[in-house]
Amino acid sequence: MNLTEKLISSHLISGNMIAGKEIAIKIDQTLTQDSTGTMAYLQFEAMGIPRVKTERSVAYIDHNTLQTGFENADDHKYIQTVAKKHGIYFSKPGNGICHQVHLERFGKPGKTLLGSDSHTPTGGGIGMLAIGAGGLDVAVAMGGGAYFLAMPKVCRVNLTGSLQPWVTAKDVILEVLRILSVKGGVGKVMEYSGKGVKSLSVPQRATITNMGAELGATTSVFPSDEVTKTFLEAQNRGEDWIELSADADATYDEEITIDLSQIVPLVACPHSPDNIKKVKEIQGLAVDQVAIGSCTNSSYTDMMTVAALLKDKTVDPNVSLVIAPGSKQVMNMLAANGALSDIISAGARILECGCGPCIGMGQSPATNAVSLRTINRNFEGRSGTKSAQVYIVSPETAVASALSGKLTDPHTLGEAPLVSMPAHFMVNDNLIIPPAPEGETVNVVRGPNIQPFPKNTKVPKDVDGGALIKVTDNITTDHIMPSNAKLLPYRSNVPYLADYCLTPCDPKFPARAKAAGGGFIIAGQNYGQGSSREHAALAPLQLGIKAVLAKSFARIHMANLINNGILPLVFVNEWDYDSIRLGDEFSIKYAADQIKSAVNGQDVIVTHLRTGAEIPTRLNISERQRDILLAGGLLNYTKASN
Ligand code: SF4
Repeated sequence: MNLTEKLISSHLISGNMIAGKEIAIKIDQTLTQDSTGTMAYLQFEAMGIPRVKTERSVAYIDHNTLQTGFENADDHKYIQTVAKKHGIYFSKPGNGICHQVHLERFGKPGKTLLGSDSHTPTGGGIGMLAIGAGGLDVAVAMGGGAYFLAMPKVCRVNLTGSLQPWVTAKDVILEVLRILSVKGGVGKVMEYSGKGVKSLSVPQRATITNMGAELGATTSVFPSDEVTKTFLEAQNRGEDWIELSADADATYDEEITIDLSQIVPLVACPHSPDNIKKVKEIQGLAVDQVAIGSCTNSSYTDMMTVAALLKDKTVDPNVSLVIAPGSKQVMNMLAANGALSDIISAGARILECGCGPCIGMGQSPATNAVSLRTINRNFEGRSGTKSAQVYIVSPETAVASALSGKLTDPHTLGEAPLVSMPAHFMVNDNLIIPPAPEGETVNVVRGPNIQPFPKNTKVPKDVDGGALIKVTDNITTDHIMPSNAKLLPYRSNVPYLADYCLTPCDPKFPARAKAAGGGFIIAGQNYGQGSSREHAALAPLQLGIKAVLAKSFARIHMANLINNGILPLVFVNEWDYDSIRLGDEFSIKYAADQIKSAVNGQDVIVTHLRTGAEIPTRLNISERQRDILLAGGLLNYTKASN
């Protein structure tokens, strides 16, 4: 077996390991961050399970740390108290970015990790099967439920040679993105192996697995070897190490070979992580801002390299250099050994340990500015400035450019500094709060930003309602539930968010839905395309939506509708879409029986009360999804099966 197959088979609960087929795996560890965590914990609470059933669950605060109003602070307080009550470790604001801290303090080779953040695969750097998922999936995993996914294909990335001076792990993953593109990893695990693996440290491996998310991969994984052991020992966690690797005769679905010695410093140009050029090709571009940090490049070795390069130098007068160390551990060590002084002295602005500029929480660049960042995503507008041009680079290229004021190949700095891993990291977990041994007496604090979250009920005998909105093709999750800096602090307040549901299509829709007490959405092709945002199903549920009748659905959104007990019905005859007017009434008679028959391929009949027509629709669901719909959503289903 390859390593991926070993990790999956040791956690397999159901299904056959055939690529593309649904499998269920046991989850050992979970992590959440604050912007997705509030909803995950509200959902966990709704399941009525007193304590998490995972080996380790951790709640991090790293995204919304700007406290310009009460909303984010309310979220932090709620997460801290709900974590204490239910057996979850709480990483306080300032302790660092979830993926960096989890790697340092909690991750274990051979374990599964499900995180409500797309860069959870960072844990693959120490041989974990670490997957990003929606908050509800994480809530279910915390409750002891399995995680369902399509069995991925496994792509071997065979690393040969070793990196030349000034070439980094960031350049390796940019090279993989250049070869495979942002769609190249979809449905796959990227499994790194070959002689070149040994030459990469754990932080370097984690940079590579972190940005596997940009390939669209299910996850990425490295073997757990002597390098991993040394890292864990330096974290005082040597006992967590086990050796893991693929069998010598393992087979793979695909294979690519990367000769590390041939890679040169690379840059991802606006506005996609796979828009790759050699730094030398566009060298000389004037730079306004340089931001170093994020879960991709904020390790101790990254920061020590940055400090060594900045020592006794001064940042270019036209550049704003901002630096966010990835964790308190990293910041503390930089402060203790004097490296922080070198960074400050050179003119860098130090930010707290968190996501910060990466998620547009502060440090938005000036209008039309060129910003070099060591982050993983450079989508248009993500920095908070729509007209900004964001380039993704390594820390080495970032410093060389901050000093010269122009995009600069780090080779121009002369001899590369020698930065080695410390024999011992500074371990002080005083910003990690363990849960209460007995949670019963803990009071969960719910400020005004923490609002009850909508719950569905079992399917009634007949599902009745009117057409509350009729939308065209290609409606995105951004149309259904807009997400902008104004709305982001309200992720724990679905009633508030629901007032913005589908308003880019029809500003009166929320009021109409509320007045009618719920009903149906009528949609064209590819309804719900875009992100995996759960709130695009939660907000309609809050407004009482019972079914969406569409010409077709985007896959993830359809799963989210099912998870919330909303019927995703596909017109058998597309012309029926044309016959529907706003306000028309419908009835799905004997809905439960029809849902049961749908698993065998039978149509679900929607009676159109104005015309008397019987509209045939399809419900493309598995047996498990049938049971979820009948229960009124995944929460009820999970609650019933516990
Ligand atoms: Fe997401 Fe950026 Fe935070 Fe990483 S640093 S978890 S990519 S927001």
